[in-house]
Amino acid sequence: MNSEYILYILYLIASVLFVIGLKMLSHPDTARSGNLWAALGMFLAIVGTIVLHHHTELTVTKVGLIIGGITLGTIVGWVAAKKVKMTAMPEMVSMFNGMGGLCAAVISLTEFPHHIGNTASLSTVMAGLIIGSTSFAGSMIAFAKLNGTMKKSIRLPKYNILNNGWFLLTAAVAVYIVAAGIDNPAIVYLVFAMALTYGILFVIPIGGADMPVVISLLNSFTGVAAAMGGFLYNNQVMLTGGILVGSAGTLLTLVMCKAMNRPLSNVIFGAFGEGAAGDSAGKSAKGTVKDISVSDAAVLMNYSKKVIIVPGYGLAVAQAQHVIHELETTLEDHGVEVKYAIHPVAGRMPGHMNVLLAESNVDYNKLAEMEEVNPEFPNTDVVLVVGANDVVNPAARNDASSPIYGMPILDVDNAHHIIINKRSMNAGYAGIDNELFYNPKTSMLFGDAKDVLTKLVGELKAM
Ligand code: NDP
Repeated sequence: MNSEYILYILYLIASVLFVIGLKMLSHPDTARSGNLWAALGMFLAIVGTIVLHHHTELTVTKVGLIIGGITLGTIVGWVAAKKVKMTAMPEMVSMFNGMGGLCAAVISLTEFPHHIGNTASLSTVMAGLIIGSTSFAGSMIAFAKLNGTMKKSIRLPKYNILNNGWFLLTAAVAVYIVAAGIDNPAIVYLVFAMALTYGILFVIPIGGADMPVVISLLNSFTGVAAAMGGFLYNNQVMLTGGILVGSAGTLLTLVMCKAMNRPLSNVIFGAFGEGAAGDSAGKSAKGTVKDISVSDAAVLMNYSKKVIIVPGYGLAVAQAQHVIHELETTLEDHGVEVKYAIHPVAGRMPGHMNVLLAESNVDYNKLAEMEEVNPEFPNTDVVLVVGANDVVNPAARNDASSPIYGMPILDVDNAHHIIINKRSMNAGYAGIDNELFYNPKTSMLFGDAKDVLTKLVGELKAM
């Protein structure tokens, strides 16, 4: 059989493996093997392309460069993924996403001179360049925001008009280059620079708690940019892979928009955070804070019928996922009904809490999503909030000046008792006060989540 046909069959198999892998990623039990199946698909696609594609100009130097690039990428990716701490996972995902966007942009930069004069393929080159560069630059800013290097959002004067105007100008320059058939290869770097600038402008003003939407949107951008490469090379597997990432990212964006209660148009046209003056906007909460000792918290929970645990970013920081599972089983041994309430944007990446709790083998059926669990709080004896802050902040419901206003939250203040574990009175990611800490039903259980939960389990076991 002709080697090109074998390659097409391999591409088909690889595409099917991507789809199966993606489907399996949607459940924690199958996610790990889903990842492996999709990786196998990618392996087949890459090796098949190198060995079976009909290359006209393949020289020894080029093969050396390809193998060198793959080896370098594999080593860097492998070491980074092995060494990354669970808390640094969100920024690593952002970095990897940005690299995908940069690859798509580099493809466009190198392909531009070969397509001058061909309007259709040059349009694809330009689209891949703009989307890929935006995704790369935006992901780098997201990386800095997630690892705390960039703490404040930067809002230039009239940033909405400026950003959208800059995007339109970038697109107009690209259209002009294609339409006018400009044959100076250096001109493509102008569009590259403009799109990088747009990526930066697009993400720097976003603050408060709106980052999850942007992160998933950048994800879909990278997929679309890769799909442009698939069009350009008429490569089916690159096209399928790009479309899958693009559509999965778009669906995730819609889910995140719903979680934040933000219309997608606001995301695309950059109207984020309007009404709030900055990250630390919103009313400051005041009142008396009541603390609780570990033993009193243990007694309260031990004599409860129902306890709901609300995990947040602090649980990941403390690496307390194993001990929280132990707390859950200990309480259940004492006859208490326990479940976890999962807010869609808890943590620092979509699905963060699910991944974290799956690591300690928490039964997936014990995780309840926000809409499902909110009606249960009024008949819950104790809510234990562990390292969560923004996702339980009532300002989202009742303070129109707050940057998180309108975001649906876990209504933990409807429970009979609220115990909040965190280390201090410090704010969460959105940088705003939380009046829940001053609620008469709330008791603060200060300390590192892992230490506190370990002591709590000890107390409960002794009862
Ligand atoms: P928050 O960031 O609101 O709060 C986390 C809290 O954990 C902090 O207030 C901190 O308080 C506490 N904490 C930190 N370390 C520890 C520790 N070792 N032990 C105990 N507590 C600790 O987290 P949430 O999960 O409630 O909300 C997520 C926020 O992140 C939202 O604003 C969301 O929009 C944003 N975000 C989410 C993304 C996603 O995709 N999920 C992506 C980007 C941003 P203290 O310092 O006092 O201990």
